Amino acid sequence: MSSASKTPSFVPADPATLHPETRLVHGGTLRSGFGETSEALFLTQGFVYESAQSCEARFKNEEPGFVYSRYANPTTEMFEQRMALLEGAEAARATASGMAAVQAALICQLKAGDHVLAAHALFGSSRWILDEFLPRFGVDVTLVNGTDIEAWRKGIRPNTRAVLLESPTNPTLDIIDIGAVAEIARGVGATVIVDNVFATPLLQHPLKLGADVVVYSTTKHVDGQGRCLGGIILTSRAFMDEHLQTYLRQTGPSISPFNAWVQLKGLETLGLRVDRMQASAARIADTLAANPKVARALYPFRDDHPQVELARRQMSGGGTLVTFSVKGGKEAAFRFMNALRVIRISNNLGDAKSLITHPATTTHQRFTPEARAEMGIDDGLLRLSVGLEHPDDLIADLEQALTHA
Ligand SMILES: *Cc1c(COP(=O)(O)O)cnc(C)c1O
Repeated sequence: MSSASKTPSFVPADPATLHPETRLVHGGTLRSGFGETSEALFLTQGFVYESAQSCEARFKNEEPGFVYSRYANPTTEMFEQRMALLEGAEAARATASGMAAVQAALICQLKAGDHVLAAHALFGSSRWILDEFLPRFGVDVTLVNGTDIEAWRKGIRPNTRAVLLESPTNPTLDIIDIGAVAEIARGVGATVIVDNVFATPLLQHPLKLGADVVVYSTTKHVDGQGRCLGGIILTSRAFMDEHLQTYLRQTGPSISPFNAWVQLKGLETLGLRVDRMQASAARIADTLAANPKVARALYPFRDDHPQVELARRQMSGGGTLVTFSVKGGKEAAFRFMNALRVIRISNNLGDAKSLITHPATTTHQRFTPEARAEMGIDDGLLRLSVGLEHPDDLIADLEQALTHA
């Protein structure tokens, strides 16, 4: 789209040959005529034209360049290109939040009479879209246990248009076989959308596993320092042109260029942060599993995870989250949380700060106790998002707090 650069931008012959860390630092950079080192923040709504003729050509898509920041913006485009290069996607569009990305990826292609098939373990707002919102417009939705491939096979219909899943799931870190689900969906031509937040763009590549669309809440690991909301949709050029581009342009869930800039710069350190958080998470999972106050510890790369083989096949690391259950239910869980001194109580994840959540009373409180039990969410269950603190300090904090559980 853009032609703003007079000084060298980052255009290697084949960016795919570079390691992800290098793509995260340089990918997508568009330098202005000033040759700035750090990517510029183009905090502008619109653009001016040399002439009326040029304005006309820009609107007719006959001349490259920007028109209006609801459609595209140079800073936002750098963020999109950097993410596309990392993900190996042909096209990417950033959105105001993760939920803007999830809803747009779904709704842009749906019409009355279509069917959506999804795993039941989804982010709460994604569940609302499926349970409450889409049925209002005559879209049928079926939810299945995502780990049960037979259930996906039974759930698919000739009119299934979209398939939605997250893996690892929140909060129990179940692993869904993306390749197997994609194969089932391909049989009826349904679009497979993977919400890849828990895996991060570094540890799992859904497009390579057969998915058609990947969405992120970049509010999480991509920002990584708790500042801005953001989201992104990564897909093929064909899906972008056929469904998404016009939907986004006309409905306007655009990210602020400021937020896109913060997240673009966040990408530069994503590799370092995820490596460190993941190394700490693996150590913490082992420590928790050995603690007598802990009933069970769940971590995708631990040998006792029910789907460890699939996790190892599908992901290149176990991720930055650990889920565990303290003995003694809600009372014990609350005593433990309140005794933490370094780890903070919060529903967020992927942050530099380690954050702990009690799903039964927060993210999953609207479900009945039976529904929670079915999802493996008992009253002692806690989800820990491991941050950048020294792992010894985190382990010491967890161990002292567990004496109160
Ligand atoms: C946070 C989150 C979302 C929603 O993202 P927002 O940026 O808060 O809108 C969607 N899916 C998953 C898995 C998430 O963790």
